[in-house]
Amino acid sequence: MTESRGLVLVVEDERHIADIQRLYLAREGFGVHVETDGNAGLAAAKAMQPVAIVLDIGLPGLDGLAFCLALRDAGDWTPIVLVTARGEEPDRILGLELGADDYLTKPFSPRELVARLKTVLRRAAGPPGEPAGRFGRLTVDPARRTVLRDGEPVELTATEFNLLAHLLQRPGQVFTREQLLAQVWGYPGYRDTRMVDVFVSQLRAKLGDASPIRTVRGVGYSATPPNA
Ligand code: CA
Repeated sequence: MTESRGLVLVVEDERHIADIQRLYLAREGFGVHVETDGNAGLAAAKAMQPVAIVLDIGLPGLDGLAFCLALRDAGDWTPIVLVTARGEEPDRILGLELGADDYLTKPFSPRELVARLKTVLRRAAGPPGEPAGRFGRLTVDPARRTVLRDGEPVELTATEFNLLAHLLQRPGQVFTREQLLAQVWGYPGYRDTRMVDVFVSQLRAKLGDASPIRTVRGVGYSATPPNA
């Protein structure tokens, strides 16, 4: 028996889907708790403090988007993989804006779910610690995974932090969206690069005029701190 990888909370109202998710996650060494209602799921997230949450959008009680918003509003940054049905694309983008870390579209293979979950967890753990750096008005501490703006903490999701830290590691270098998806998200060849744009706009909204991120038209993004 290998050591548990931690508890994953599955919030899914379709029993047969929840059962398959439970089976595959348990096989990979995760503990699994299933809730079939959004409100019960949110209560479980607060009470059990899972390492990650697999969250259906269409749920009785509280839907997945309201769930994301409520959790993030409460200052809880547990990684969330959002599960969407085909045709729910606007909801998926909104879900990322509301603080989800990744998404899967139904129907998906259980192996895909396991792979995504591992990637999200790896990302949340972040790269090994490096000394804190100052970038204009920002202070970024990779070891503690904190960002200060003018000395005040800025709350970032694991993915937002990793994207910012990645750009700042090579100031001035221009990254394409495909490169960022491969290097930050771990998805080589992944086609839906709008996810990168969503996360960049979230970072800009949170960092305000202290944001070092520059759009390079037709290419991608780079970070150029004011003091570089
Ligand atoms: Ca559902």
